[in-house]
Amino acid sequence: MTLNKEAIKKDFNKKLMHMFSEDVEDASNFHKYLAFSSLIKEYCSENWFKSNKQYRKNAEKQVYYFSMEFLIGRLLRSNLLNLGIEKESEEALKELGVDLRDLEEEEKDAGLGNGGLGRLAACFLDSMASIGMPGHGCGIRYKYGLFEQKIIDGYQVEIPDNWLKDGNAWEVRKDDKAVIVRFGGKVNPVMKNDRLNFEYKDYDEVLAVPYDMPVIGYHNNTVNTLRLWSAETVESDDELDFSSFNYGDYSKAVQYKSAVESISKVLYPDDSHIQGKILRLKQQYFFVSAGIQSIIRSYLKTGKPINDLYKHVAIHINDTHPSLSVPELMRILLDEKEIEWDEAWNITTKTISYTNHTIMAEALEKWPVDLVKNLFPRIYMIIEEINRRFVEKLCLSYPNESSKITKMAIINNGEIRMANMLIVGGHSVNGVAKLHTEILKSRELSDFYELYPEKFNNKTNGITHRRWLIQANPRLAEFITETIGDRWRKHPKKLIELLKYSKYSSVQDKMDEIKKDNKIKFANTVKSRYGIIIDPESIYDVQVKRLHAYKRQILNLFHIMYLYNKLKENPNLDIFPRTFIFAAKASPSYYLAKDIIKLINTVGKKINNDKSIKNKIKVLFLENYRVSLAEKIIPCADISEQISTASKEASGTGNMKFMMNGAITIATLDGANIEIRDEVGDDNIITFGMSAKEVMELEKNRGYSSSQIYNNDNRIHKIVNQIMSGYLGESSGEFRNIYNHLIEKNDEYFVLKDFDSYVKAQEIVDGLYRDRKKWVEMSITNIAHSGEFSSDNTILKYARQIWNAKKVKIY
Ligand SMILES: *Cc1c(COP(=O)(O)O)cnc(C)c1O
Repeated sequence: MTLNKEAIKKDFNKKLMHMFSEDVEDASNFHKYLAFSSLIKEYCSENWFKSNKQYRKNAEKQVYYFSMEFLIGRLLRSNLLNLGIEKESEEALKELGVDLRDLEEEEKDAGLGNGGLGRLAACFLDSMASIGMPGHGCGIRYKYGLFEQKIIDGYQVEIPDNWLKDGNAWEVRKDDKAVIVRFGGKVNPVMKNDRLNFEYKDYDEVLAVPYDMPVIGYHNNTVNTLRLWSAETVESDDELDFSSFNYGDYSKAVQYKSAVESISKVLYPDDSHIQGKILRLKQQYFFVSAGIQSIIRSYLKTGKPINDLYKHVAIHINDTHPSLSVPELMRILLDEKEIEWDEAWNITTKTISYTNHTIMAEALEKWPVDLVKNLFPRIYMIIEEINRRFVEKLCLSYPNESSKITKMAIINNGEIRMANMLIVGGHSVNGVAKLHTEILKSRELSDFYELYPEKFNNKTNGITHRRWLIQANPRLAEFITETIGDRWRKHPKKLIELLKYSKYSSVQDKMDEIKKDNKIKFANTVKSRYGIIIDPESIYDVQVKRLHAYKRQILNLFHIMYLYNKLKENPNLDIFPRTFIFAAKASPSYYLAKDIIKLINTVGKKINNDKSIKNKIKVLFLENYRVSLAEKIIPCADISEQISTASKEASGTGNMKFMMNGAITIATLDGANIEIRDEVGDDNIITFGMSAKEVMELEKNRGYSSSQIYNNDNRIHKIVNQIMSGYLGESSGEFRNIYNHLIEKNDEYFVLKDFDSYVKAQEIVDGLYRDRKKWVEMSITNIAHSGEFSSDNTILKYARQIWNAKKVKIY
């Protein structure tokens, strides 16, 4: 985009005046933010229009990424960056006496996701647009995002995240594109044109209204769309006439309105754990139905026949949450387009593909038959028929293996297994890291792999280097460009060219200086925000991610307590000073996770206030972890903690963000950590702990006893007793849950088992960090290899191997 700062200045002044009747001097920062972002939206509107026009005219293959979550964070900076007017905007604002960074802070993070899964969807949108692929998001416009977390007295307190309260500058409501989604009611068979059809009666109608957000490509003309659906009542004329209601009807009408609107009211705050709530199932069908209806309507405008849908449209399903896409697409093809079953099935399977995100039982979606039958009677009929045909086929293939057939069936034991339905109803199933895909193929989904080997493939997750490097760490990005030129910005694999400078003193010194500056800036923020002094010379050892037992924040904490105990015995102990930094939200109903937050804060308070250890270690818990906080903390990390129990973290993406910013990873051989190691080599990562194979063996043969370790390892014994005894200054029952989890319930995630190995790995870290040259060399090596994990690469693989979609240049 070619815009000079004079034009931006003029346009901004005009916009402020137009929107608020204010000038730069009078307007609040929030008004300035609103005016400025509205201006940016205007700047991209022509390319948005052109992209859509061109996609339609040429019937280019469109990819629709269906996801219950899009954790997009703030958009002001990334939109400026992608439009190529970041510098010009900064200067224009500066000349008006406005600091762009102040306006950025006015933007609320769009908290439309829980964690990694939602952030992945956001990185993918950025990559699709930046590569120039016609790829769009489809999701829900939650009125309330993930809760805002406050830490009060060490406890997590959840505050509703009313992110839309003051409006969303980036969205455009499209009333004319609204569609109706139907719930409940009855289905009757009828003959229509000599063909069996199904008539739908007595249903409730919900109006799905789309809000579109532009997804701007990096330095190209592509502007794709994130379409988020909002649930509203269908206004009929008599409903508008409130005077005709008696009081009973009025309150009924209000109740009805609030029941309908509840569908898009709030994001379920769960990560790696599914609650079988009716409202959540309604949410899923709501956006799936609205999304598919709108895709088909817009596809038919290209003039192509419905039977060719799969040649022009790919629908990708992010985890099983949008799995009702399969029967919903079937329903539209069968009942509305009057296509016969076999052909409808052919179109559906060729259109839909699915990403599996987890093998953990508590995260696998199953819905009770009765619930689905009541909420979506026609959809249930279709699922039943899909299952019947599938089981029939299995019976032919495996005549004497009833247990195998039972395991693979879509409907079993009164429940519908959503993953099974997607494997059968789509043409591709992918895992999100090599190990994860291998586990799917060899264990969890091995029967399906045997039946449909051609459907299975791996697509290791990725992150957008634009947000996570160029935007989050501008000085590092600039220095990389000074060193190797700027081709890496469009072709992130070119970061590998940094490798030949990893031993250059001048490059090392500069890299070290940039990290140090980031650390100092962060220390200043921590001091003013939390009143805690941290030393920028210390190692910043960072674990930020959702709080979950399998991610093992407790293991990290046990190491901290171990160091503290050693320091208490010997205050002159030679350890390199460290600042341990945590940030994590726990699901409000996940009590163990909340207890762990309290424990981290309790230990932190004890350690941070103990003068006797001479500030050698500090523990920090930053509240309200979210994208904008991640962007601040990751660029100053020295150590990236990726310590999940091997086999449990499907991929992880936090690991990639840290690597890209030069942190050294301390890791178990889990998820994408393995691929990071394969890239950088054993000398540039510190690994420890049991392998996935060992974990799965131990789980299978039940050969683990945590109390045995507790009884035999003095270090662990002491730590556990300190937690339980009131030594930390809390009542002795405070952490009973944690004790039960680790000792009585045999430590499901092998924290005690991996403790010794983790401590040794941390000793290696301590030694390595003292050799500054060596450390910075490792750091540069990590950055150099991180281009491999740009989601641009990931998306290119999805496009070639799953979607068969091509880039489209927008003129
Ligand atoms: C990247 C990211 C995650 C995922 O982190 P993992 O370490 O992969 O679990 C979660 N939340 C936010 C805000 C993120 O940016």
